[in-house]
Amino acid sequence: MNEKIKMAVNGGIDFGSRLNAAQLRTIAKYMDDEESIEVTTFQQLYVEIPKDKEEEIIEEFKRVGLVCYPVGNYVKSLRTCNFCKGEEQEGMPVAKELNNRIAGKPVPFTLKVAYTGCPVGCGEPMLSDIGVMKMKDHYNLYIGGKAKGKDAEVGFLLLENLTPDQLYNAVEQIIDLYSENGKKREQFYKFIKRVDKNLILEQLAI
Ligand code: SF4
Repeated sequence: MNEKIKMAVNGGIDFGSRLNAAQLRTIAKYMDDEESIEVTTFQQLYVEIPKDKEEEIIEEFKRVGLVCYPVGNYVKSLRTCNFCKGEEQEGMPVAKELNNRIAGKPVPFTLKVAYTGCPVGCGEPMLSDIGVMKMKDHYNLYIGGKAKGKDAEVGFLLLENLTPDQLYNAVEQIIDLYSENGKKREQFYKFIKRVDKNLILEQLAI
């Protein structure tokens, strides 16, 4: 039997998490009638594709605007708000660039990063491992949020008033610190509790 692999797919960062008809048809092409698809809480679909056709299917998905990510202990694609006030005002290009830089990086445990275009916070950045909130022309960076469990917690403000470049650098360096110093399968919020906040700040060169 043909081996299948699981892949996370979405329509990229846009005004809301949407898929058009061509994208849905392309995904359905690789599904049998009795197969179903998993919609995750992280604005991704999990699809299973034949391993021996992986590259050509990813190319085909790309042609209709689908973006593919690995499943497992990687940085997830950015969970975003719907950018209701407009692409530029809410920093969609910054969200896209950040996503390009970090999504799919291997980490000790699945890492969730959220972006929200204004302080209303529809992208729920405070409940993510790493959360970005656009504040007028700058960006605030939160870390350590935990959405699940009865010990759920909101993240704390690590850095504020960042430019886009400072934001990219800070997030990339925090992820590198976690990759290099996190224990196997240590969740990010536990890593943040174990490593002192000031120690993290000392390591950052932004
Ligand atoms: S966070 Fe702000 S910009 Fe984004 S969808 Fe909510 S209200 Fe709109």
